[in-house]
Amino acid sequence: MMPPARDDEVVFRGGTILTIDPQHRVVAGDVACVGGAIVHVGGAYTPRTRDFTIVDCTGCIVMPGLVQAHVHTCQTLARGRADDMELLDWLRTVVWPYEASLDEPALTASAELACAELLLGGTTAILDMGTVHHTDAVFAAAERSGIRATIGKAMMDAPDPQIPAGLRESTRTSLDDSARLIGRWHGAAGGRLRYAYAPRFVLSCTDELLREVGVEARARGVGIHTHASENRGEIALVRERFGKDNITVLDELGLLGPHCCIAHGIHLSADERRLLAARGAHICHCPSSNLKLASGICDVPELVAAGISVALGADGAPCNNNLDGFAELRLAALLHKPRSGPRALPAPEVVRMATLGGAAALGLTDQIGSLELGKRGDVIAVDLTALHTVPTASPWSAIAYAARSSDVRHVAVDGTIVVRDGALHTLEVTRVRERARAAALKLFR
Ligand SMILES: [Zn+2]
Repeated sequence: MMPPARDDEVVFRGGTILTIDPQHRVVAGDVACVGGAIVHVGGAYTPRTRDFTIVDCTGCIVMPGLVQAHVHTCQTLARGRADDMELLDWLRTVVWPYEASLDEPALTASAELACAELLLGGTTAILDMGTVHHTDAVFAAAERSGIRATIGKAMMDAPDPQIPAGLRESTRTSLDDSARLIGRWHGAAGGRLRYAYAPRFVLSCTDELLREVGVEARARGVGIHTHASENRGEIALVRERFGKDNITVLDELGLLGPHCCIAHGIHLSADERRLLAARGAHICHCPSSNLKLASGICDVPELVAAGISVALGADGAPCNNNLDGFAELRLAALLHKPRSGPRALPAPEVVRMATLGGAAALGLTDQIGSLELGKRGDVIAVDLTALHTVPTASPWSAIAYAARSSDVRHVAVDGTIVVRDGALHTLEVTRVRERARAAALKLFR
């Protein structure tokens, strides 16, 4: 199946609209997109052309699509293969050998499965870390699926004997392959696809590579996506190598800035928090992954209080085990209350994190993350007729605490409808399922 031609004029009719605009306005009526851009929010809309599509949103909350600022679509075939382990064992015994064995067809199957799950669940944009090889296949799958994706190949040039030979690369190869991918994909599909350098974490990279990434990302105007301070063992190894903490190391090597998104940031000192805030770097909070890998609980209220921009993400299928943006949203809203009190991260703040916070982490607040005139038409309609959302006292409460990804009825990216009435239009779900099952069987035989 080919990506659908852009619907010229689409009207999401008759919903309750959570705009996520600066005033947090909730309005009734229509959201309309022309040529992929939002031209109308709230009240009744009269189509401008004859060739328009009306999408019925009666009984729905219409809102910006969820943005997940940390996922690994390359890992989806390892769902359920690495349960009940902590991070470093999880990487060394399952995830790295799995990634090393991925060929292009398997990576395609994995990325298509992820993109289909994400879109059907109302996630319209992702920041994705690939594996070391075959990143073109991930981009191609994202392109076909219709999702908005900023993707980077994982960079792993450290002379670490624990890294399988199939993933180890030279500093030069890592930088050259990244540059080639930027040339081919950054800005492709009408700007829907973008590149971000993805040094996996400090421990998988040489100083030379990290320093070059800092320089190249600024020179080329692309983002940086990495992991840091996820696990106490990781932090101890970073201290052993540098005599410093993770965030200080990243800063001294020139990686921190508003173009940098760091996954996890669980074990941070107050000094590291101040440094992140001063540099405008983003933290992507991945609560399910942090719990499942027993990594810890990120101090999100403290990060927010320090002025750090926080986004949400599901991480990968082997550490979650879903890519469900609504599950992460609910968990993020609940997780911090026992420690910080019931008013910590109220519903509107977490919904904003899951949308505009993600847009900020992707460097795309001028394009997505809220329903405002001139932004791109990344729109979802969440059906509130299922019994677990009835009655709806507040749309913020419904989205943060009650709604599920299975309540997502319609999804558009860039003004193009990719899910309608719960059915994915871009990829054939039956085929995606069969290919994923077959590829996983072959890989884990
Ligand atoms: Zn990750």
